[in-house]
Formats: sequence, C-alpha cells, structure tokens
Amino acid sequence: MSFQSLWAATANPAPDLPQLTESLRTDVLVIGGGFQGLSTALHLAELGTQVVLLESETPGFGASGRNGGQVIPGLKDDPDALDRLWGPRATEFAGATAETLFSVVARLGIECDAVRGGWIQAGSKATHLPGLQSRMAQWQARGAPVAWLDAAAMETATGVRAFRGGWHDARAGKIHPLKLAHGLARAAQAAGVQIYARSPVTGLTRAGSGWRAQLAHGVQVEAARVVLASNVYTPPGLDRNLARATVPANSFQIATAPLSPEHLARLLPGGVVVSEARRVGTYFRIGPENRLLLGGRGSFSDPQDAAGFSRIEAELKRIFNADFKIEHRWFGRVGMTPDHRVRLCEPAPGLLAATGFNGRGVALAVALGKAFADYLAVGTPLPIPIRPSIPALPFHALHPLYGSLGIHYYRLRDHLDP
Ligand SMILES: Cc1cc2nc3c(=O)[nH]c(=O)nc-3n(C[C@H](O)[C@H](O)[C@H](O)COP(=O)(O)OP(=O)(O)OC[C@H]3O[C@@H](n4cnc5c(N)ncnc54)[C@H](O)[C@@H]3O)c2cc1C
Repeated sequence: MSFQSLWAATANPAPDLPQLTESLRTDVLVIGGGFQGLSTALHLAELGTQVVLLESETPGFGASGRNGGQVIPGLKDDPDALDRLWGPRATEFAGATAETLFSVVARLGIECDAVRGGWIQAGSKATHLPGLQSRMAQWQARGAPVAWLDAAAMETATGVRAFRGGWHDARAGKIHPLKLAHGLARAAQAAGVQIYARSPVTGLTRAGSGWRAQLAHGVQVEAARVVLASNVYTPPGLDRNLARATVPANSFQIATAPLSPEHLARLLPGGVVVSEARRVGTYFRIGPENRLLLGGRGSFSDPQDAAGFSRIEAELKRIFNADFKIEHRWFGRVGMTPDHRVRLCEPAPGLLAATGFNGRGVALAVALGKAFADYLAVGTPLPIPIRPSIPALPFHALHPLYGSLGIHYYRLRDHLDP
C-alpha cells in the first residue's frame, strides 16, 4: 500500500532537476537534498563557493518532506544544561534556529505556508508541570518571548481540555515542509548550486587531498570538501558509521478531512502548533486545506496498511474527544540518539556530517546548514562541538529490538506518571 502524505498531495511542483550523467569537479559536494543539505548548499553558494548537490530521489524525499512542519527552536537539553554542556554560544544558536529558518524564508520569498503562531509544549500530568515551568523560565531569563499557560489558558489556546498546563514559545511556528524543500532547492539553484536529482551516491573515497563520490555507470564527482547530509536515509554503502549513528525510529502521521467551521474556530487558533510533554507523546497542528494533522511514534517496521496507524488514530480521538475522518496517512524516519543530542562530525579533514536531530530537525537542519556554510567558506567556528569521528551505535542491527523495548518502557512510565 502506498501512503501519500498530505504534503505530497498539496505541494507546488518539484523543481525540474537533471540527473547527473557526466563526471565533474567542484569545490564542495553536498550529498542529500533535505533541509540540512539544501541549506548548506544555498548558504555556501551565497558566500561565493562552488557547490554541487546530489540527491538520490528529489529534494525533500527524506524526513524533510514528510515531517510535521513544526518549526521549534531549542534542543532537547534545557538552556541551563546546554550552557554547562556546550557553552552559551550553543544555547544562543539553539534559541535562534526558528528565527534563522523564518528569515531565510522571508529573505528569499519562499512560498511554504509559513505561519509564526508559536509552539506549545503541553503537559497532561501533574508531573510534567515543574519541568515545563523550569524550561520556560530558563528561556524567559534569556529574553525569549515565552509564557506560562494554566489549564484554562491551555484550553483556550488549543481547544483541548486534556492539558493541565504548558508553555508557549512565540519564536516558533509552522511551514509546509515539502514546499519549503522545493523552495530551498529553487533558491539554491538561483544562487548557483548545481543540483542533480535521481543521482544516488554509492561510495565515497579519498582522492588526493579531496574526495571522490561514485555514482552509477562510472559517473564520479571530485570535490575538495564534502558535506554528508544524507542523515537517517544514508545507505550503509555510502557511510557505514553514519548509517548506524542513530536509531531510525518511524514517526507516523495522519491528517483528517477538512475541519468544520466550528472545529476551526475552536482548535489551535492563530496557527499554534503543539507537542505533548509525555516521553512518547504526539504532536499536532492544522495544515493545508484546514485539516488537523497529528503525528507520533510508530512501529519500527513500516506500516503495511491503514490498520498500522490505529494507535495514533486512537490518540487523536482521545486528545480531541471527537471522531474525525482520516484521509491521509504517511510516515518517515527520525534519527534518535540515546542521549537525545545532535552529533556534528568531521571524521576526516573536509568531510562534515550532522545527524541525531531526535525529531526536532526542521529549524535545526536549516540553521546547521547555514553554520556549516559559514564554517566551510569563512572558517567561523561551529556553534556545537564537532566530533572527530561519526559514532556508530553498538549492536545497531538490533535496533528494532532495543528501540521497541525502549518505547514500551517509556510508554509504561508515561502511563504510571501521576
Ligand atoms: C514523520 C516525521 C515528522 C517530523 N516532524 C518534525 C517536526 O514537526 N518538527 C521538527 O523540527 N522535526 C521534525 N522531524 C524531523 C525532521 O524532519 C528532520 O530532523 C530533518 O528533516 C532532517 O533533515 P536532513 O536534511 O538532515 O535529512 P533528510 O530530510 O532525511 O534528507 C536526507 C536526504 O539525503 C538523501 N540521500 C540519502 N542517501 C543518499 C545518497 N546515497 N545519495 C544522494 N542522496 C542521498 C535522501 O534521499 C534525503 O532526501 C520529523 C521527522 C519525521 C520523519
């Protein structure tokens, strides 16, 4: 069964991109046309660097064209912890990721249904509230436009009765992710990037002081530097460590039929987007055609039919206390790391990769792409420490087993939380 996403059903046409059929040389080769690769390529070209971007399918084929489109600043670590872990520059960078994305969209006039209506992190249990309050207070102390919402304010802000409290972050918002991927690709092309679609890289080897990427039929690209932006969709043949650096968890999404005027007036007014504070929580928003979208953790095996989505359909019914008709179901892979932290890696001189966005990569991948470009073209230090190797997870082949056990454990803890 094929699952067409709401994004694919409502996106503007993909840019018309050639396939690479002849070998060439470039200064920087970017492998992967998601937000990370597209943003790196775009910003490098704007700084005057010669860039080629190769994408296996078409831009936005991976997580970037399938996600919930929630543009959320910050990393999973709270600001105080981040200050201690990586220093205030990392915290400042993390707090500005949504701003970076929205300014790129505004500066280049990218049409991607961008709405900056804020993000709410919602607590449904008493145990969630102290952590959420502390997170909000830490951002507030750094001047961020955030506010606490009690249960009554949560009901007004979300239209949902189930929440006891939460915090609102006005830096955040939403976009149509596939339109953004297409728009970034067009902007990168206009800035001078040579983008090739349907051009999977099958191997990457050292060539003198640079790199040689192999494609089918003997086609090669030689480059002084390479950004491996294939993230969770990396095939083992391209880079075995990057392919094993994260647990590739499935995130499932559903979209309802267009909402009635009554539901639209009450649910998620002002375009706000919501994530639950539970360990295995859902996230939701209103999307194209006024449909309600909800996403959440799915099985490690890919769903075979609509029945595979029954768990998140039950969550939708529980949260909104209504029977909505589901008209779209789709899924994609999210790269999880055991400590929920992103990995920036430079395993060899001139080879960069980032992975482990832990389901928060929309704003982060765009902002990291800009940081990679500044690092490669100008030498600006990266805002997050870079590792000298790509750390593969031990026993990666067993990830469906330990990943499923972990999810069951966290679901149990969510259930037992008072
Ligand atoms: C269902 C879902 C919902 C999500 N919701 C949110 C959300 O609401 N908010 C949020 O912040 N984050 C969310 N995320 C996470 C976010 O989408 C990702 O972190 C982000 O898009 C990662 O971008 P990327 O460019 O690094 O990777 P990708 O978008 O996965 O791009 C990698 C690209 O590399 C290409 N590629 C792979 N191998 C090769 C090769 N050999 N040669 C050439 N190209 C190759 C792939 O085809 C792919 O297009 C979600 C993810 C999923 C799957």
